[in-house]
Amino acid sequence: MNKTISQIQQGLAKKEFSSVEITQDYLTAIKQHNPAINCYISVTEDLALQQAKAADQRIASGNAQALTGVPLAHKDVFCTDGVKTSCGSKMLDNFVAPYDATIIENFKAEDSVMLGKTNMDEFAMGSSNENSYYGIVANPWDNERVPGGSSGGSAAAVAAGLAPAATGTDTGGSIRQPAALCGVTGIKPTYGRVSRYGMIAFGSSLDQGGPFARTAEDCAILLQTMAGFDQRDSTSIVQPVPDYSTSLGNNIKGLKIGLPKEYFAEGLDAGVASVIESAIDEYRKLGAEIIEISLPNTKFSIPVYYVVALAECSSNLSRFDGVRFGHRCDSPVDLEDLYKRSRAEGFGEEVKRRIMLGTYALSAGYYDAYYLKAQQIRRLIKQDFEQAFKKVDVIAGPTTPEVAFKLGDKTDDPVSMYLQDIYTISLNLAGLPGMSIPAGFSQGLPVGLQLIGNYFDEARLLNTAHQFQLSSDWHIQTPEMK
Ligand code: GLN
Repeated sequence: MNKTISQIQQGLAKKEFSSVEITQDYLTAIKQHNPAINCYISVTEDLALQQAKAADQRIASGNAQALTGVPLAHKDVFCTDGVKTSCGSKMLDNFVAPYDATIIENFKAEDSVMLGKTNMDEFAMGSSNENSYYGIVANPWDNERVPGGSSGGSAAAVAAGLAPAATGTDTGGSIRQPAALCGVTGIKPTYGRVSRYGMIAFGSSLDQGGPFARTAEDCAILLQTMAGFDQRDSTSIVQPVPDYSTSLGNNIKGLKIGLPKEYFAEGLDAGVASVIESAIDEYRKLGAEIIEISLPNTKFSIPVYYVVALAECSSNLSRFDGVRFGHRCDSPVDLEDLYKRSRAEGFGEEVKRRIMLGTYALSAGYYDAYYLKAQQIRRLIKQDFEQAFKKVDVIAGPTTPEVAFKLGDKTDDPVSMYLQDIYTISLNLAGLPGMSIPAGFSQGLPVGLQLIGNYFDEARLLNTAHQFQLSSDWHIQTPEMK
């Protein structure tokens, strides 16, 4: 089950298999391997087969679109009409969404098939997928290690061959970091490129949806369907979506790639560093010009993020109050008791920690010292990138400081967990697009190369990744599934 989307498209077009057949193959693989990996919260078998049937009819009638009949998995952060949408939380364990998120609507309009909803850290908070109400997700390369988070279910599903591609969201690295640790390709687009309507909010000024797949070519196909203006999201950008697939043929001779010296400093594992250096050498061979750059405010990105994201989450999660939807405690004695116990019972430990820290940062007397200061430094981080993009076209470096760590290794130490996002977080603070692509292995585990682009430069980013994948085979390596 290691087909790419473009191979599935071809197979469907040539009638080598039907959508029902390929969907059934994935459902069988899920039955066999999901118990060990736990990458799905819900498997929507009946719906998938029904959608596949409709897709086969559409193909037969000659009206197929890019993703007609292609099976996909969706992170359980996206609202799916009539299907449980839990966000990895007990709070929403009983929540069946009454509408579709915009991106789900887009996929449905093409008659793609939904295999199920993927596991994730509760409310997308985490870097290891150990914060889900539905249990940990195992890394398919080594079941005793984390897949990364918060979209760990989506990354693991693609790596394990339990979906050819999946959606995810990235607030501080949650597409790129699990893509790196599971050895798959993922892209977080520019803030505003993909609608956030129907995507359960964590940090609204940082959240952005994007795809996971085996290849950059597949990510281009998926992003084409996901991207675009949506009047239901006030931060969605009115800007035409380029044809991502046609830009994939461009030669990258003379492309200027910047290496931020701060990304190769202390804290980077030697095995990861050497894989990244080899990948950079490959780009040199492809004709790119490698230039050292500096992003001096990188060191502030984690503290700034953990003020801004937590402040926003404390506000966003106030809607889960036991009144309108989600978990409600038994026999409340009054309204305050209802709020307190519903939230105490419905939220997990990490979510509570963040709501409390965020509420503190926003409170009178601390707002200026924390939230306002963080917003000011956020501007400096953005300016670092603006300066860098005057000199280079793309920025490259590691996605994560180390390979997948052992389950439980960092759960008692939130700060060491937060440090996993050192290279990914600043892009969300700046709103820039970024990718992670498989670049090799260290200790037998996948290493991700991060590519960062300028605003709305996803086409160039995807092509930069694609050119690397044309001359390497890291992205087609798959873990052995027992
Ligand atoms: N790991 C980061 C966090 O815990 C980022 C999560 C995300 O991108 N959703 O907040």
